[in-house]
Amino acid sequence: LLDVHLMLLHDEALVSATKVWIHERHYNAEWALSAQLEVLARQFDEMEDAYLRERKADVEQVVERLLRELRSSSLVAEGAAAAGSARNAHNPNNAHHAARDFAGEDPLVLVASDVAPADMMQFKRSVFTGFVTDVGGKTSHTAIVARSLDIPAVVGAREASRLIRQDDWLVIDGDAGVVLVNPSPIVLEEYRFRQRQSELERARLNRLRHTPAVTLDGHAVELLANIELPGDGPGALEAGAVGVGLFRSEFLFMGRAGHLPDEEEQYLAYKSAIDGMQGLPVTIRTVDIGADKPLDSSQHGSAAARDESHLNPALGLRAIRWSLADPAMFLSQLRAILRAAAHGQVNLLIPMLAHGHEIRQTLALLDQARTELDEATIPYGPLKLGAMIEVPAAALTLDVFLKYFDFLSIGTNDLIQYTLAIDRADESVAHLYDPLHPAVLRLVAGTIAECLRRGKGVSVCGEMAGDTAFTRLLLGLGLRSFSMHPAQILAVKQEVLRSDAARLAPWAQGVLAAEEPGVAIVL
Ligand code: PEP
Ligand code: MG
Repeated sequence: LLDVHLMLLHDEALVSATKVWIHERHYNAEWALSAQLEVLARQFDEMEDAYLRERKADVEQVVERLLRELRSSSLVAEGAAAAGSARNAHNPNNAHHAARDFAGEDPLVLVASDVAPADMMQFKRSVFTGFVTDVGGKTSHTAIVARSLDIPAVVGAREASRLIRQDDWLVIDGDAGVVLVNPSPIVLEEYRFRQRQSELERARLNRLRHTPAVTLDGHAVELLANIELPGDGPGALEAGAVGVGLFRSEFLFMGRAGHLPDEEEQYLAYKSAIDGMQGLPVTIRTVDIGADKPLDSSQHGSAAARDESHLNPALGLRAIRWSLADPAMFLSQLRAILRAAAHGQVNLLIPMLAHGHEIRQTLALLDQARTELDEATIPYGPLKLGAMIEVPAAALTLDVFLKYFDFLSIGTNDLIQYTLAIDRADESVAHLYDPLHPAVLRLVAGTIAECLRRGKGVSVCGEMAGDTAFTRLLLGLGLRSFSMHPAQILAVKQEVLRSDAARLAPWAQGVLAAEEPGVAIVL
């Protein structure tokens, strides 16, 4: 048996053809081997002779062993993030037959078991025009980043990476959450038509870029951008954002193999985001690492990561808990943000606070950061202080929060996850993820109402803010500040322009009182 395996290792059908994938399509070694295995497996499946057909298992074993070696070698480990996603990567999208190489003109679709948020960021510079993953929920961070890239995506497609093969044609219908494999010409034509329609719709919406977001009855509404990287500012301005409502600073910390950015690097990054927004306000959220946002993608979803971070990472050491557990790291971030605040209007936003003592500890560290800068005679600027409301405990103790903070920002992605006890990244409970659950709505409505009563700023920066299905409801509840991915701003603006806030208010109260708000909202 070992002799057979050794022979297979030298077989041209395996070796030369794998090299062709590498040379011509620029696949990495693991991906090239997997691609060639698929080709050989198909050939074996078509063999008439049962004995020969079964030899497929030998080839599979050899390739499996090779892949294991390649993955464990340190040389490859550095590229493992890309390899992990790319290995399963398949091919073409809506209309085009992909395949040649990454530099080719045909759009490519990535099909993978999972993609870590940090890897997803890499695709900003890549040629992928869409992606499909087996796991993940609509508000998992991988999906959020895909939304920010404004590319069609379907997450939680279970068996996709196993069932879809290299060079299949794919239609990704992100709106319906559907992937069609090798669609018939009629279906393809239908989707080409829809694609043209949505391009026309985009062009039409684009005309609203410079129109102020004001309701029919004259209420000004602030539409802000959620960004992940400092360089995202110009894109946000282009989309008509009037500021950044959420800069997810954790993306600066990811994929760095343990070498976190120091104060200077962070200061320059924040300054560049502020400069990019040309005088408009920028809300920088302190690092929100943990749960489905590991520091390094090699830990993403791995057994090691689960072992290390307990069984429920979403309930573990994440966000402000992680920051308070490492005061030196947190202080360097706070100093960097304070220094950057000398260059523009900066709001500081703290994620996932639940306890009064966490608030007081955070504020004490902020004071310490100021003192350290004073002692070193380093200039810094004023900050408005905000807390995210994303844990029910916070939404139920607003008086404590409003005592310390200038504004609140409702993180509905987490608030829904923690209120309904479902992991936002787990596709098997995605059907229970309901922004219109009465409990969620009461927490959101209560937070908005209390802030309005106390004259404090309040916004929503979870995905709910960028979903036009909820715009009227949030307006009716009194919300006047929405933060979302730039790609969603114009569609939300259109909803605002068509809304009469005074008439929406009583209707929203009705939705709030309904046993099934999901039904009430459509009526
Ligand atoms: C949220 O929880 O709604 C939010 C905006 O933060 P994140 O999605 O980064 O957890
Ligand atoms: Mg959150």
